[in-house]
Amino acid sequence: MLECTIAGSLPKPSWLAEPNRLWAPWRLAGDDLAAAKRDATLLALKEQEDASIDIVTDGEQSRQHFVHGFLETVRGIDFARRVEIGIRADRYKALVPTVTGPLSLNGRVHKTEARLARAHTTRRLKFTLPGPMTIADTVGDAHYKSRPALAMAFAVLLNEEALALEADGIDVIQFDEPAFNVYLDEVRDWGIAALERAAQGLSCLTAVHICYGYGIPANRAWKETLGAEWRQYETIFPLLAQSRIRQVSLECRNSHVPMELMRLLDGKDVLAGVIDVATDAVETPEEVAALIAEISKHVPPARLFPCTNCGMAPMARPVASAKLSALGAGSALARRRLA
Ligand code: ZN
Repeated sequence: MLECTIAGSLPKPSWLAEPNRLWAPWRLAGDDLAAAKRDATLLALKEQEDASIDIVTDGEQSRQHFVHGFLETVRGIDFARRVEIGIRADRYKALVPTVTGPLSLNGRVHKTEARLARAHTTRRLKFTLPGPMTIADTVGDAHYKSRPALAMAFAVLLNEEALALEADGIDVIQFDEPAFNVYLDEVRDWGIAALERAAQGLSCLTAVHICYGYGIPANRAWKETLGAEWRQYETIFPLLAQSRIRQVSLECRNSHVPMELMRLLDGKDVLAGVIDVATDAVETPEEVAALIAEISKHVPPARLFPCTNCGMAPMARPVASAKLSALGAGSALARRRLA
């Protein structure tokens, strides 16, 4: 009960990538980079175990960005043909590569880090992949010429990798779909179908992470425009409740999401964010336990998994480390109080 986990990413060591930023350039190349990624993955596991995180991840130490880490292994994309698009309904401008032909995988995407992580922890292991709608919102497209068709093509590739990750011994496969909070009509029309296609045939646990983004300036500015109550989840959760996805990871601490909206996820496991990744202020275990107690008025503790609001990739490492400890200690405190 109240087993804790993280959304997915942790900051990278400064010898691996430039610190405190998203999309940080690697500081090594070739075999040195490959070795450094392995070392960083082991450190990420150790830090989570020491912080009493129950369901751990590879910390996403082997990918530069959560979407582009997947795209690197996809054929049918021209990385030299970069176009500027406004992603997440024009919240940011980004220079993105272009899909120019039928998509297929050019081999395994995450085999090395998944097998390494599996070999070095006995805890349950979660692995994150970008969701099909979010990928389709983060590339240019000169081939499919339809968002749903593009997303479905990515869903097929995601499914191939997800099935292979399951065979590697991964216990939970999570798809990150921040775009779900932006394109509410499309979620209903084709987003859930694409997500379910990505998860097709998996017998391990499946999860979807839907957040309001990393704590970067463009996101903070966007959040200012969302009003006093954020009710995007009100549209999405009933659709997810009917889907085949088992777990939903969502943002809670310091967000303007009314907590009662979690009731719409009846029957699902709820990975509720009790750690804010948009501030360097470190929560105390007491604060974490208090929020868990509040959430458990809406979600039965057997289905509640304390989590971070989002990935911690852009944070300073000591801050992320302290927040991990607060998450582990706060969850343990909440468990003792409920027992
Ligand atoms: Zn997130």
